Amino acid sequence: MQGGGQSGPQLGCIADDFTGATDLASTLVAQGMRTVVLPGEPMPGQAVPQADALVVALKSRSIPAREAVAMSLASLRWLQSAGCRQFYFKYCSTFDSTDAGNIGPVAEALLDALDAPFTLACPAFPANARSVYRGYLFVGDRLLSESGMRDHPLTPMTDPSLVRVLSRQLRGEAGLVGFETVEQGALAVVDAMRALQARGVRVAIADALSERHLMALGEACAGLRLVTGGSGMAMGLPANFRAAGWVPVEDSAALPAVAGHAAVVAGSCSTMTREQVAAMSSWAPSWFVDPAMLENPVPAIARALEWALPRLAAGPVLLYSTAAPERVAEAQRRLGDDAGARVERMLAGIARGLVDAGVRRLVVAGGETSGAVVGALGITALRIGPVIAPGVPWTASEGASPMWLALKSGNFGGPDFFRTALDRAG
Ligand code: ADP
Repeated sequence: MQGGGQSGPQLGCIADDFTGATDLASTLVAQGMRTVVLPGEPMPGQAVPQADALVVALKSRSIPAREAVAMSLASLRWLQSAGCRQFYFKYCSTFDSTDAGNIGPVAEALLDALDAPFTLACPAFPANARSVYRGYLFVGDRLLSESGMRDHPLTPMTDPSLVRVLSRQLRGEAGLVGFETVEQGALAVVDAMRALQARGVRVAIADALSERHLMALGEACAGLRLVTGGSGMAMGLPANFRAAGWVPVEDSAALPAVAGHAAVVAGSCSTMTREQVAAMSSWAPSWFVDPAMLENPVPAIARALEWALPRLAAGPVLLYSTAAPERVAEAQRRLGDDAGARVERMLAGIARGLVDAGVRRLVVAGGETSGAVVGALGITALRIGPVIAPGVPWTASEGASPMWLALKSGNFGGPDFFRTALDRAG
């Protein structure tokens, strides 16, 4: 690692989807770096949050490679101007991509832009049973190509060899830093990376079966300008910044205190969210936001708010469109292909109304729903706080009047997640 002052952001990350960005950010916070997520490509001139790591959350996993490269490069330029000294490209722990990209092309473009000769690629995430051995990715006991990822609608993964997958995406051949090297520790990895670089390799897959391996890889990456991987690969990086004295020792998960009402907005129809909605309905006032009312969305938002606002002073309220599969299918038949997007906009309008009425602690269930809510609230930066359940932290919006948000992917959390989250909020 070279250059730079002592304060300000050190690590600049680019994630190819939103929940991946918060997952990575939580990993960094757990390892002692204050971290802020920026939803979407940052604007030139956008204020740089006070943090040790910044994570730009793109939606670039399944778009054409040229567009993913352009977005990633624009984000890199912003992170460079924010003063970051090392950069991280985050993708999914199942290496979701096709032969056309986007992992290889984005990694190569970032290397070119940074004038960097070499980087590692490792999606391993042992806590979630994703491991890489001899370049082959395992999901639990199965090869990637025998897991559910084989039938993914956008990025079916039918080849378990990441060296082959990545080689098809790169201009040159991908290399491998094998298990026996990683097992020997960081110095052996550094030697292996030098040897690969001397052979003209620019990107190499790294084996990792355990968090110990990820920590060794992280240590070995101290001198790289660019590191790429899942959220696990980032685990070992904060120690490098701490060792260099570039990260102040303080509570990295601290969020500003907030005072205000609490609410839950649920747009996920996943099995777990359905359980969570049923559980909260038994102890809090709840309102079903019926997609049938979408024919007339403004009155639908107004009616939901008319119901919710007088109840806020008494405690948390729940508004949900969450429904069983038959009911979702019926709404899709009635409303057409963009039913989901329209329901998202309706829930986002409701969230906006709740915040205008003084809600400052908001839980949102559903990945796409969360994206719509963050957009409707005009939030451009989220500070990552304490973890509520694996993969779901409390976050606080940056700015003059902060609010707390918990943004949950559909299937995350246990049945009582909403109560647990609200009990732990401010
Ligand atoms: P998850 O994280 O579970 O995938 P998302 O919010 O990403 O949740 O996706 C759920 C999708 O279903 C959203 O587009 C949402 O608007 C849509 N949706 C929610 N409720 C209904 C409903 N009752 N009928 C039809 N679509 C719905």
